[in-house]
Amino acid sequence: MDHRLSRPVVARFVAGDGLEDGVGAIAKLNQRGIGGILDLLGEGVTDPESASQAADEYLASIKLIEEAAIDTTVTIKLTQLGLAFDKAECIDYVRRLATEARSIGTYIEIDMEQSPFVGDTLEVYRALHTEFNDIRLAVQAYLRRTPADLQAMADLRPKIRLIKGAYSESPEVAVQKKGEIDAQFAWLTDWLLANGKDPAIGTHDGALIDHCIASAGRAGTGKKGFELQFLYGIRRDLQQHLADEGYRTRVYVPFGSAWYPYLMRRMAERPANLRFFLRALAGD
Ligand SMILES: Cc1cc2nc3c(=O)[nH]c(=O)nc-3n(C[C@H](O)[C@H](O)[C@H](O)COP(=O)(O)OP(=O)(O)OC[C@H]3O[C@@H](n4cnc5c(N)ncnc54)[C@H](O)[C@@H]3O)c2cc1C
Repeated sequence: MDHRLSRPVVARFVAGDGLEDGVGAIAKLNQRGIGGILDLLGEGVTDPESASQAADEYLASIKLIEEAAIDTTVTIKLTQLGLAFDKAECIDYVRRLATEARSIGTYIEIDMEQSPFVGDTLEVYRALHTEFNDIRLAVQAYLRRTPADLQAMADLRPKIRLIKGAYSESPEVAVQKKGEIDAQFAWLTDWLLANGKDPAIGTHDGALIDHCIASAGRAGTGKKGFELQFLYGIRRDLQQHLADEGYRTRVYVPFGSAWYPYLMRRMAERPANLRFFLRALAGD
């Protein structure tokens, strides 16, 4: 990708290359009443040294979060911590990070990645749940398996971030039509409000946010009974409006140099996103 063309677009969706860029962006969000979800970019590591290095970088971010006294969680990708080749060590890394996060008054969130990793990711979440029931796990509404996965976790009262899902998946694995994904998202929102712990709804889809607010109203949960989550640089007007209305909001703030796959997902996930990307290129 041409560097001059990509730089402003990257800057729109990614806080910067360094940890201090991510922390700085979250400090600014905090001033506007919005919490952070700090994301060190990177995924799919294939050797133990890279996994260990990622764990060290996460630990460094938790230290800086404490020093900067910002309101943020830390989100991790398990493939960055070696899930694909050493699940036991990956669990050890997550345990260490969750311990450190808790010691500074925050918690870890686990992103959900491509469908081949879903089973192992659920296993890691369950393995750590007794020690760390504050970890938040992302689940994808587009996956056909997700309702059954959640039912199977009902005994845990899981703490979930519900999102539509950002990867290209086959029709056997994931529903493809927006209407069907939205219907499953709405159903899962209701399920989480009834059966989950402090659910987070991660979407920029106004109709689904309205659904969550109405459903929480019917369930008697009130504004504080759920969290609304967004991606850095997307629908900032909506983020601010909902924060100003008194909803608990967090923004997912990626930083780091490995931004390429993240940016490609933001472009490719939906035609609407691609149009948005082109508008961003045009300087909107
Ligand atoms: C906090 C958070 C964490 C996430 N974590 C994960 C994860 O762990 N795993 C995973 O697979 N996915 C994750 N995602 C991505 C998610 O799966 C969707 O791909 C993404 O949020 C777009 O879907 P949408 O729900 O916003 O709805 P869409 O139907 O795609 O979009 C609804 C509307 O939102 C706006 N919009 C959406 N995306 C964009 C964009 N890129 N640029 C500009 N406008 C846009 C448009 O106005 C669009 O019409 C996360 C999303 C959020 C908000």
